[in-house]
Amino acid sequence: MRKYFLTTFIIVTAIFVATVFMPTGLSQTTSNKTRGAIGRIEKSNEEWRRVLTPQQFNVMRERGTEEPYSGKYNDFKGKGVYTCAGCGLTLFSSATKFDSGTGWPSFYAPIVANHIGTETDSSMGEQRTEVHCARCGAHLGHVFDDGPAPTGLRYCMNSVALKFKNKR
Ligand SMILES: [Zn+2]
Repeated sequence: MRKYFLTTFIIVTAIFVATVFMPTGLSQTTSNKTRGAIGRIEKSNEEWRRVLTPQQFNVMRERGTEEPYSGKYNDFKGKGVYTCAGCGLTLFSSATKFDSGTGWPSFYAPIVANHIGTETDSSMGEQRTEVHCARCGAHLGHVFDDGPAPTGLRYCMNSVALKFKNKR
């Protein structure tokens, strides 16, 4: 009888501990997941070569630039979102696309700030701010501070680094 009581006590205590402490643990895990939701995608150059066209590889992995007015999204007016051509992360909305007259698709803001990363680029004899995908590191283009309202920014992107998805 005493042994039975002890077993019951242990089970009840265990359930109590689980009920009181588990939700805290679970909610912390969930919020951590939400914060780092985009994660990181790392591939070797060989792996990227297999999934990207040579031009995409040059732009996205070697920081090349497509010829102005050559890209399929420069003059494109479709309504939807532009994702990273490397990993599919959502980057820009057609709602923030504007005609910059530069020959490259231009946006005044990303959809979600932490979906893009920036880095100072001192090549080409000038200081520019390089823009890349926060998840796979693909080079996308540059951002300049001569854009329109409301941000005053001009995200000058390479068409080949983007993939358009129609709004449904
Ligand atoms: Zn990406």
